[in-house]
Order: sequence, then structure tokens, then C-alpha cells
Amino acid sequence: MTIETHHLSLGETQLTVLDDGSFTLPAGYFLNVPDNVAAGLGETVTIGANVWFIRSGEKRILVDTGSAHALKQMFPATGQAWEDLQDEDPTDIVLTHMHADHIGGLADPHVFPDAQIHVSRAEWDFWTQEGLADAVPEDQRPMITMIQQVASGFADRAVLHDGESELAPGLVLEPLPGHTPGHMGLRVSEGNETLLIIGDAVISEALQFANPEISYALDGDAQQAVATRRALFEKCVDQNLTIAATHFAFPGVGKVVRDPDGFRFEAE
Ligand SMILES: [Zn+2]
Repeated sequence: MTIETHHLSLGETQLTVLDDGSFTLPAGYFLNVPDNVAAGLGETVTIGANVWFIRSGEKRILVDTGSAHALKQMFPATGQAWEDLQDEDPTDIVLTHMHADHIGGLADPHVFPDAQIHVSRAEWDFWTQEGLADAVPEDQRPMITMIQQVASGFADRAVLHDGESELAPGLVLEPLPGHTPGHMGLRVSEGNETLLIIGDAVISEALQFANPEISYALDGDAQQAVATRRALFEKCVDQNLTIAATHFAFPGVGKVVRDPDGFRFEAE
């Protein structure tokens, strides 16, 4: 299968966005939705799924793996980039966070055996804590068990990062917590151009720019996610950053624009 790809360059750094498919979710996954916005929502909301491959100097960096086979049963339209991604030979894999739709490709511990896997320490410590499955509601247990199985498969290759952390010249990991405890983005800079991969700091471009207070059912700490989102929007406008997000419609790259009563996303 040939999937859609989108190519960008920042100086010598090449970035490819790969289309991993989509998720059709009950509209109820979005919480704290103002009445006037809720009135316009259908029963379901469809969101995209983007993953990124960066070539920079000697580094070939996969940013998230997509779902691969992990969620096919519930969401058959996911995991579409995995077949093509397996032909790549990443030196490094950055995980924005450890939800199944971002780490699914690592379910097989034998793929990309030479790649170092970068994740924030807060994220790693949260998901790998002993007894976590017993501490959550029963319906979340399969998700925890799956994440812990995948994590144990790459534990010996995991590189844990604290705070802002430089991966390579022009590539900086940047904490964006809330969606998960150690959720992070990746800032790619060359010359005076900067692109910030924001992962799941914003899930829906249609809903959360105009209303950053709208949260998502899988946000671990909704309040912190809202604070992160507001600060992120301010920063993106002030610094004229280009952003790339996981769940925006493919390819999900564009600018944040300030509106009289909120923000808006302008796709590139
Ligand atoms: Zn996600």
C-alpha cells in the first residue's frame, strides 16, 4: 500500500509527514465543549494520525511510530504508515508520549533493533510504575497492560530525558505535559526557521484553537493540558512558529493565528 506523504525542508533538514490513517470517535470524547459548539457537532468526530521522519546530518529520526497493528480491531483505519515505515532505518525514535497510537510499532521488540528510543523520564516513570494497572478503572487496564508490554520490549534501548533536552544540533525535545505526564514535543530549527512537532498537545484543530479549554477523554490531566495549550498558542504566535500535530487532518502542518476571541489554525 502506498500512503500519502508530505515533504518539508528546513535548510539541510528534511522532514516527511506520513499519513497513518484516521480515528472516528464519539463526539463525547471531547469534554467541556461550550453549548454553541456542541450544537454543531455530529455524533462522531474524525481526527487524523500523522507520524514524522526527519533526516538531519547523520541522524534519521522517526517521531512516533503510529498505531501499527495495535488498534486495528477498534479503529480499522489506523496503522497505515507502518508497512512503509518498516523500510526505513532510523538511528533514533522519539516518542512524544506512550499512548498506543504513538508506540504501536514497537510492539514487536525486534523492529529497529539499533535505534535509540527517546522518551521523557516523567512519561517512562509514569507508565512503567508497578501496580499501575490495578490502580486504574477496569476499562483502562488493557491499555496499561499493552503499554507496559511494549515498554518492556525496548527498556534496554530507552534514553530518558529531563526537561528541555538537545537530541542533536537544531533538534530539541520540549516538555508539553498534560495529555500525559511526560508528553513532549520536538523543536526542529535551522537558520531562522523553526518547526515544532506538538504531538497531542492539541487533538482537534477544528475545536481546540477557538476553545483551548475543550479537553479530550484521554488527557491524563485536563487542567494541565489546557494550560499547556494556551501557553503553546501564545508562544507559537509570538515566535511565528510552524507547528505539526499528530491528529490534525493530514499533513497537519501550519501556523497559529490569533483571533479577536481566541486562536485559529491556518494549514500550510
Ligand atoms: Zn494520539
